[in-house]
Parts: sequence; structure tokens; C-alpha cells
Amino acid sequence: MTSEAEPAAKMPRFAPKLLIVGGAAALVLLLLVGGLGWWLWPSAPVSPRAKTLVHKDAVPAVATASAAVSASSAAAAASEVAVAAASAPVAESPASAPLQTHDAGDVPPQPAQAQAAPPADEAPLDRLQRRLGQVLGARGEVNTALGGEWRVVTRAVPVSRTTQDAPQRQVPMPAAGHAAAAVHWTYEGRGGPQAWGHMKPEFHACANGQRQSPIDIRDGLSLELEPVLFDYHPSRFGVIDTGHTVQVNLAPGNSIDINGRRYELLQFHFHRPSEERINGRQFDMVVHLVHKDAEGRQAVVAVLLERGAAQPLLQAVWNNLPLEKGEEAKARSLIDLSELLPSERGYYTYMGSLTTPPCSEGVLWVVMKQPVQLSSAQIDIFSRLYPMNARPIQQASGRLIKQSQ
Ligand SMILES: [Zn+2]
Repeated sequence: MTSEAEPAAKMPRFAPKLLIVGGAAALVLLLLVGGLGWWLWPSAPVSPRAKTLVHKDAVPAVATASAAVSASSAAAAASEVAVAAASAPVAESPASAPLQTHDAGDVPPQPAQAQAAPPADEAPLDRLQRRLGQVLGARGEVNTALGGEWRVVTRAVPVSRTTQDAPQRQVPMPAAGHAAAAVHWTYEGRGGPQAWGHMKPEFHACANGQRQSPIDIRDGLSLELEPVLFDYHPSRFGVIDTGHTVQVNLAPGNSIDINGRRYELLQFHFHRPSEERINGRQFDMVVHLVHKDAEGRQAVVAVLLERGAAQPLLQAVWNNLPLEKGEEAKARSLIDLSELLPSERGYYTYMGSLTTPPCSEGVLWVVMKQPVQLSSAQIDIFSRLYPMNARPIQQASGRLIKQSQ
């Protein structure tokens, strides 16, 4: 009896203490919740303190995540990123990702998600920050176009609350508007040879031409061809770095005669490695001497260059390399292009095209059989400017190739 009555008798004495402790704990909890609530819902939309709560990974993650979303929403998402991190234009660079920046380069790409799922190993402080971001996002203060990332927008750069009006804003965006208008053709990357034919209507032949250059020259018909008559003289010249090659413009007075037709030499320029191949073999470099006749028909003489002794005429060109791209440097000396020609004048000939946009066809090609030497140092100088500026081989498509015996 007593053994059963004792617990029942002690219980009423213990209950008041429990109530007091429990009550105190509830009061503390209420104060905490109240304080947090005041902190979360201040009178101002975003307190200066909240601005500092941008997730530390937000900026690089935005750059990578927005590359995966549509261009219009990316324009809104990356507006600050474009200003802060991607201000350098990438038009000429072989960028593989539309929004690749130096800062984001070492951040692994993250797929953009419609709603961010909390990471399994999220730290308590990070969770609090994320929830704070969600709350602020519901109040329109977070750009929700960021996919998996949230960020509190500072007042320095006003950002629209919806993504609908984003396209109207003028933002320096290498990936979208700028790229469509001003991607330059290149030899690698997005502006590379496979894209040339689709960049402009006038580049159509680059993709759809049937008689394109360069080709792998083989199986030519060996015939008694008329020799090409070179009428080259010491001439004034200017050197220009076009952004695609080093080009030498010549004063009038140099010409060739092919089958009774006279073509005036306008300019010559270089490719590394050689664009044309002879029975599959590619050479270290090639010079293209571009001529035009009175009716506008073009004839290009190709002189293949291989590693060996130094070439004086090329040295004269290198010595006059301009410091700025696109500006011709007038040389004070003269050059005589006959010094660049091989001693043997045998050649291959076929009908092809310009090897750079607009890839115009109807070009008469004369490829000298014997290569000319230039030194390793001379090759290295050109390589510093243009390590690779050769269009890939095009289909010969049954074209007739003739060669002198
Ligand atoms: Zn060329």
C-alpha cells in the first residue's frame, strides 16, 4: 500500500517546479522568436545589414548557372556579373561557354535548377541565410531568375523585379546581343571555320561553295603547261596586322602573266601552317601572293615555306611589323618579290576560292611545287602573332588539277 502511495504523494510536489522551469523556457523562446521576427521584418525593404548576407559563392555561381538558362533571363541574371567580372570583351577569344569569365574559370559548372534544394550538409548559418533569402525573395528583393542561387541585390545597380523587362536594359553582354552583331571570324572556337558560312549572308560560299580552297593537291594531270611569267620589281611596301594574318601591301607595278592574261600583284600574306597540302603533306608556312586582272578576276600564287635557311625578304617584312593592329606601317626600304620565288618554277594549278571569308570562288590558284626556306627564328616570330591561321582542307569534289612537268 505504502509502496504504491509514495509516488502518487510525491508527484504534486514536483509539478510546480516543472511548470516554473517550463514557463521560463517558453518565455525565453518567445523572446528569441520575437527578436528574430523583428530582425527578419524590419521597416525598410532591405537593411544595410541584409545586403552583406549575399552568399559568398553567389557571384561565380551566377556566372556559370546563367550560362545554362535562356539568353533573356541570363541578361538579367548576369547584369552585375557582366559589369564586375566579365567586362573584358570575348569576341575574339575562342570562348567555349557564352559567359566564361576569368573569375569564373575555376568554378565547376553548376546546372541551373528551378528551385534550390537545400544541400544535405548545409551548415546552420547557411540554412538561415538561405531561408532569409527566400523570405526576401518573396518580397521581390531577390532576383529569382538566378535559378539555383539567391542573392540580395544591392542598391548600387538597380535590377528589375521581374525578368520580363530585362531585355530592354542595355547591358554589355558578350554572350547575347554583342555576340550576334560583332563576332569576328577566327580560326578556332565559336568564330571558327565551321561557323564562317553562317555569320553573314555574304559569307554563304564558305559553307555552301562547291569549289573551295584550300585542298589537298594530288592526282594532278601532268602536262606541258605554259610557264607563269613573273614581272616583279623592287617596290615600296607597307605591313599591316589585319587581325587574321600579317599582310604586305605593295605599290603598283608588279604583275604575272598566265596564258596571256595579266594579273596585278596587290598584296601578299602568310598562313601557318600551310593551308594547301601536297599529297597530304603540310608545310611550316605559306605565302599567298594575291593578284587581280583588269576584269577583277583573282589569281593567287602560293609559295610554300619550310624550315631551313633564313629568308632575307621575309626578314625585311618582319622588321617592319607594325606595333598596332589594323594600321599599315610604311617601310622605308624596297622589296623585290622575285627574291621570294623558288628557283624551280614548276607549279600546280586548279580553280578554287579565297581561303578566308567571304570565300569567293572563281580564283585561279598557282601553287609552286618547290618550297622556299625560312629560319626557325623567322617562323617563331610569326607564331608569336599567329600560331595557327590555316583554314582546314576542303573537298576537291572531282575538280581538275593540272601540274607542270
Ligand atoms: Zn591566304
